[in-house]
Amino acid sequence: MFKNSYMERAIELAKEAMQLGEIPIAAVLVHDSIISAQYNKTILLNDNTMHAEMLVLREGALKLNTRYLSQCDLYVTLEPCQMCMHAISLARVRRLYFGSYNKLKSIWHGTQVYGGLYEEICSDLLKSFFMQKRKA
Ligand SMILES: [Zn+2]
Repeated sequence: MFKNSYMERAIELAKEAMQLGEIPIAAVLVHDSIISAQYNKTILLNDNTMHAEMLVLREGALKLNTRYLSQCDLYVTLEPCQMCMHAISLARVRRLYFGSYNKLKSIWHGTQVYGGLYEEICSDLLKSFFMQKRKA
């Protein structure tokens, strides 16, 4: 079997999470060496966004003082969900390695969605923000 110390560290953390009653998923962010290693904290913090990947992306960005982690590789014990996958992409993470395939990746818990409320005002806010950014 392919041996990888970063994935082994993630597995150790996932086991720690399970002992605390947390979902056993963990992530390790590497920039030459490990800069962040976290397990899921959705149950512990009552926050459904506290996935291991989100935690290491935040910590890594703080430590490197940039929101772009293009020199970083990410190791996760489970294939990231859609939220995390998008966050990983936004952060420009260089490489993603994951252990188990996520067979439940597109669960929708029934939230009803309505788009287009005050669409023009909301859209203009963003347009003017980016226009000012380009001028600066
Ligand atoms: Zn996730």
